Amino acid sequence: MPITSYVIALGSNRRGRHGSPREELRAALGAIGGVRAVSRLRETPPLGPSRRRFANAVALVDSAEGPDALLRRLKAIERAFGRRRGQRWGARVIDLDIVLWSGGCWHTRELTIPHPHYRTRRFVLGPMAEIVPGWRDPLSGRSTLPLLHAVDRPRPRA
Ligand code: ATP
Ligand code: CA
Ligand code: CA
Repeated sequence: MPITSYVIALGSNRRGRHGSPREELRAALGAIGGVRAVSRLRETPPLGPSRRRFANAVALVDSAEGPDALLRRLKAIERAFGRRRGQRWGARVIDLDIVLWSGGCWHTRELTIPHPHYRTRRFVLGPMAEIVPGWRDPLSGRSTLPLLHAVDRPRPRA
């Protein structure tokens, strides 16, 4: 099978068996394998009354797996790292999202690529600008840097 490239967004806001959120991200990168490039690990200070810091990063990963097989494996890694069901938006040891892949668009009940919300998330676009600044969104045709600038300087639509 030909090698396929994926952009994967990683996030953690809870200590796990490997340690701090940062250490969880590093361990997850090792578990995913095939990492060709990785952004800096960012930390976002906690908002509001929560004391949890978020750590985020984005990786460029080579894999021979198709999108469905990769998602299954990423979910297995999330479970192995101690993530439990029903923690959407809540505290989680690790969150692994597929943002883009070299094959363009993909849509099933389980998986949508490009990730539906990446265009508005600074914590995804910022790290992406370091490693895949020119990768074009197949839907809008805009690459990472213009998308990041649009988030940083939103302009009202006419
Ligand atoms: P968000 O997707 O807004 O970042 P989340 O990551 O907290 O939210 P999860 O609870 O981790 O949401 O995932 C819910 C479901 O989203 C997963 O079970 C998965 O099947 C589905 N999903 C759809 N598209 C993707 C994608 N591109 N990457 C990862 N999961 C996806
Ligand atoms: Ca997510
Ligand atoms: Ca997710």
